Amino acid sequence: MDAQHMPSDFSKILFSEPQLLARIAELAKDVERDYAGKDLLLVGVLKGATVLLSDFSRALSRHIDIEWMAVSSYGSGTKSSGVVRILKDLDADITGRNVLVVEDILDSGLTLSWLLGNLRSRGAATVEVLTLLRKPEAAKVKVDPKYVGFDIPNEFVVGYGLDYAERYRNLRDIAVLAPHVYS
Ligand code: IMP
Ligand code: MG
Repeated sequence: MDAQHMPSDFSKILFSEPQLLARIAELAKDVERDYAGKDLLLVGVLKGATVLLSDFSRALSRHIDIEWMAVSSYGSGTKSSGVVRILKDLDADITGRNVLVVEDILDSGLTLSWLLGNLRSRGAATVEVLTLLRKPEAAKVKVDPKYVGFDIPNEFVVGYGLDYAERYRNLRDIAVLAPHVYS
């Protein structure tokens, strides 16, 4: 769906689908260059990264493997609980692999810093992060993504895989959720 199908749900559209795809194509070129001649395993973080990983992986003109992990640090609301749990683990051994974690958004960084420690402890050759969005809070934590799509203001955003209470993942754009929807 498009934001115009329910305009009152959003206070602002941050990125349209064409803007997102254009930036993802640039990120794909950077990744191709940096991993030229090397094995590459993309690890998508469910569920938010599903839309991004499907577009990003197809923007890459090279072979890759894809794995999925599901972790939870948020409840159904808009605030971090600070608790990270593995809901679904990798299917593959990542020893010696070049892992690129693909995330929808870096906010408090709680989820990612925990996940990176976990993946590194399994003997991956390299573990790097690509995040489509980064909020200002992320500057306070020790997560240094190698690839960032866009830096955004500290507002709750939905769409392009990102949800509020599991809704809006199928929105083509990324939009700021209007406060009346969650208050
Ligand atoms: P962090 O642990 O605070 O960095 O949060 C990471 C996870 O929280 C993301 O993977 C999202 O699932 C969720 N999240 C954080 N900010 C937003 C937002 O603005 N909209 C939707 N989900 C968010
Ligand atoms: Mg979520």
